[in-house]
Amino acid sequence: MKQLIDNAWVLTFDEEWTEYKDGFLYLEDDVIQVIGNKDEDRNRYLGMSDEIFDAKGRWLMPGLINAHTHLFQTFLRGLADDKPLLRWLKEEIYPFAGIMEEEDFYLSAMVGCLENLKCGATSVIDQHYVHMSPYNSDKVFEAMMKTGIRGYNCRTFGNRLPHKPLEESKERILNELGRLKDTWHGRENGRLNLMMGPLNPWGSTPDMFIDSYAFAVDNDLMYQIHTAETEDVVQATVDEYGLRNVEFFDSLGIVSSRTQLAHAVYLNDREKEIVRDRGALVVHNPVANMYLASGVAPIMDYRKMGIPVALGTDGPGSNNSQDMMEVLKATACLQKVYSRDAMIIYPEDVLAMATRDGAKALGRDDLGVLKVGAKADLVLIDWKKSHIAPVHKPHSAMVYNVNGNDVDSVWVDGKLVIHEKKAVDIDETALLDICQERADYLYKKVQGVRISR
Ligand SMILES: [Zn+2]
Repeated sequence: MKQLIDNAWVLTFDEEWTEYKDGFLYLEDDVIQVIGNKDEDRNRYLGMSDEIFDAKGRWLMPGLINAHTHLFQTFLRGLADDKPLLRWLKEEIYPFAGIMEEEDFYLSAMVGCLENLKCGATSVIDQHYVHMSPYNSDKVFEAMMKTGIRGYNCRTFGNRLPHKPLEESKERILNELGRLKDTWHGRENGRLNLMMGPLNPWGSTPDMFIDSYAFAVDNDLMYQIHTAETEDVVQATVDEYGLRNVEFFDSLGIVSSRTQLAHAVYLNDREKEIVRDRGALVVHNPVANMYLASGVAPIMDYRKMGIPVALGTDGPGSNNSQDMMEVLKATACLQKVYSRDAMIIYPEDVLAMATRDGAKALGRDDLGVLKVGAKADLVLIDWKKSHIAPVHKPHSAMVYNVNGNDVDSVWVDGKLVIHEKKAVDIDETALLDICQERADYLYKKVQGVRISR
């Protein structure tokens, strides 16, 4: 299908931050064909288009990339507002996750994907680590398929986890990775993809890390691990192996350009050099780091060293939202207060992390920027509002004024999935009603499980 998005203030997010204030974007099927100013040859495309969207008064920008979350936690929002990471996992997240059924993983991922889209994230990496039924992962893929999001299901695992219901054997993990790859990877015109990774540095045996990494290399899959999120997490590998998290991973040979370290709050200088030298990437989750009082990742040091830094919300259990627009402001403000240097980070730094560096986390160069030949993952922002206008600098306003509710319309792979704030193919009210019912039921049940222990 040929579509013209007309009358937009186009923000390309390319290296030069090119804008077309009175612009248009023409796409055919899933690919951007032309971007220009209205006075150029826009009339030609007006005649050629099957659909024309009048985007007057709105910004057109590339979709944001949420590079780290756990979608099932939409069912756990706000359950553990005031606990540190390891207690939060043990007392709240693991027990609740343990009683969720296959259909709950579909429903919770539906809400999570929808929230991501409605807040302007067109791609999401979902670290999914709850596999009492192996088909929970299929349910996440089904939700990604149905909502229209560009979904990267990061099949996560551990073969010696302290919470036994989440533990799996190495054989099962590798078999399941093979099955999921054969069933889902590359489906929907490449919109659905498999990724993989160990849950954390202490929950797998060394041979599990090594063999799973070999699987990632053999199948060309990206590999993401929670790393150095808190000082306790670092201490776990120091106690067992005498090595900090990244030193331990590097001793196993699993740090490379396909490796992504979620959080990386506590890396020493040697570890930072390893990350840089191996070409690995960091995923920064500022809201979750603040929420769990984990600490501040020195992301501007990483960027200065040439380490790509993508952004994520982390799971709705530790955020509690999936609003990537909110993450933009948190990223900037956290670095400023931490360094006490107001010039340490600029809006363009933040936007590059949420788009072009996010695309690196997906292993792609055709996302995170509006350019000819790129995928048509597009977001329209309604900025003529009293909390945004008047605007002098749109990139600044995007980081410091816009929130997820300002997202007007969203295309993924050239398909309109959110139109004027409404999901095109999903009855949101009915979905939320059934999710509230299930979440209430599970919450009651988990209280019972706790009492009977
Ligand atoms: Zn996480």
